[in-house]
Amino acid sequence: MPDSAIQDELIAEANKFNKSRNLIEALQQQAPTFVDKGLDSWSLDDNGLLLYHGKIYVAKFDEIHRKIIRQVHENPAYGHPGKWRTVELVQRDYFWPGMVSFTRDFVKGCTTCQAMKNQNHCPCIPLQPIPAEPDALPFETVSTDLIVKLPESDGFDLIAVFIDQL
Ligand SMILES: [Zn+2]
Repeated sequence: MPDSAIQDELIAEANKFNKSRNLIEALQQQAPTFVDKGLDSWSLDDNGLLLYHGKIYVAKFDEIHRKIIRQVHENPAYGHPGKWRTVELVQRDYFWPGMVSFTRDFVKGCTTCQAMKNQNHCPCIPLQPIPAEPDALPFETVSTDLIVKLPESDGFDLIAVFIDQL
């Protein structure tokens, strides 16, 4: 469903620049057949918005392009989807030439996505050896650990680890 604020803005733009609308209407009524065939992809909706294959055609206004992508990409329902998913969501309602690369660049430049990407790695905490007592004897300080819920192998699913801290 196209965002209503964006749609209002597009309608205002369409009315400001209604040359294309008049042209489409005139061509649809009067153009020779060979031109008319190419116009099959284009139509007008009740608000005067130009549609290309049923999608709202957005003229070359980068600011509106950005608003449309932001509204989809930053929508909590989708939660910053990747570039192809964002393209797919934008394409549901809109079309403009160069939309795929514009969307890809937008997602690439999204600071939230960058931050989330960096958090995909576990924080790297350096391992610290447990120091042994200076005069410790073998097996005097032993640590144990259980690694559990492993995929079952011969009926077993855990590993017991014993470490002599000498
Ligand atoms: Zn993002």
